[in-house]
Amino acid sequence: MKAVVLRDDLREADIRPEPLYAEYKAILENESRRIFDGSIRIENRELLPFDCPNCGKAPVAEFERWGAQYCRCATCASLLVSPRPGQEALDAFRRESRAGRFWEQTFAAATGAAREHGIFRPRLQWLLSIKDRYGPRASVVADYRSKYPTFLEALCDSGEFPQVVSLQPEAPWEKLPLAVRPERRAGPEALLHRTDILTLFEVIERVSNPGEVLHLARELCAPGGVLVLTTTSSSGFEYQLLGGSAPNLNPLDRMNLFSIDALTRLIGKAGFEILELSTPGRLDVATVRKTLESDPDLPGLSFWRYFFRHCGEDAEHTLQEFLQQYRLSSHVRVVARRQ
Ligand SMILES: [Zn+2]
Repeated sequence: MKAVVLRDDLREADIRPEPLYAEYKAILENESRRIFDGSIRIENRELLPFDCPNCGKAPVAEFERWGAQYCRCATCASLLVSPRPGQEALDAFRRESRAGRFWEQTFAAATGAAREHGIFRPRLQWLLSIKDRYGPRASVVADYRSKYPTFLEALCDSGEFPQVVSLQPEAPWEKLPLAVRPERRAGPEALLHRTDILTLFEVIERVSNPGEVLHLARELCAPGGVLVLTTTSSSGFEYQLLGGSAPNLNPLDRMNLFSIDALTRLIGKAGFEILELSTPGRLDVATVRKTLESDPDLPGLSFWRYFFRHCGEDAEHTLQEFLQQYRLSSHVRVVARRQ
């Protein structure tokens, strides 16, 4: 199984500039609390207990974050929000969300160029290299629950795929001035068993029922088709050290943080063979340093406080590379083939 190390730098301050990011998080926290305390007005807002989809057992309460209860699966160490809203309520919330509007209208506009350069361009290169390596004759690529219209615009523009489909897009694209647009599909029917490359970018972590989504992924893929997935893992440095104090832990976007072991088994159980599993995250070390600097009372991290105070920038770079090399970053990407 291939593992990848990325050596270029991505600066957190460029993609999450303050004070804009703090303002976005404050809106998000308020909305999250209203969903989990039931005071938000959306249809089907009941919260239901959620068992680990990998082990079938009820996870154990570990910490509260923005009104949500994060629980740990005692068997596979995944972090899961339980109880949680169903998908219908989440979709309704996202359509109406103030945080979502703030992200699209203010935040995305301010960080678009940095995200394009630091995230989407490398992601497009990665996808094209997957096509070369694992599916040179691939013609249909579908992106499920699309959130990044300009990424799909670039994918269409590459001319590498005769058919680029956005399946159940989450982003409202009607008003965006895109030069080329992917085909949009509200339901999976036309793509069943004929998708050559299916992408799930930051989907598994935010859906109410990730097991169901992986089952759908198998139904969508053609025999031998390739699943490409990115997500956030509970095994990574940031979440292992910071837990409920991790600054980017938003319960509505990060409802399922599977351990690497659990993710591997879930994908296998859904009928895929994993070809590549890497954690090429670039921000874990910077995020932990920033959190320790801003919260001097966070307990149990004296070694890391010492490290950041005395070891310098080179040591931080080396540590981030080490995390990538040993699959210990929180950002995971997977390439798998439908069996
Ligand atoms: Zn489990």
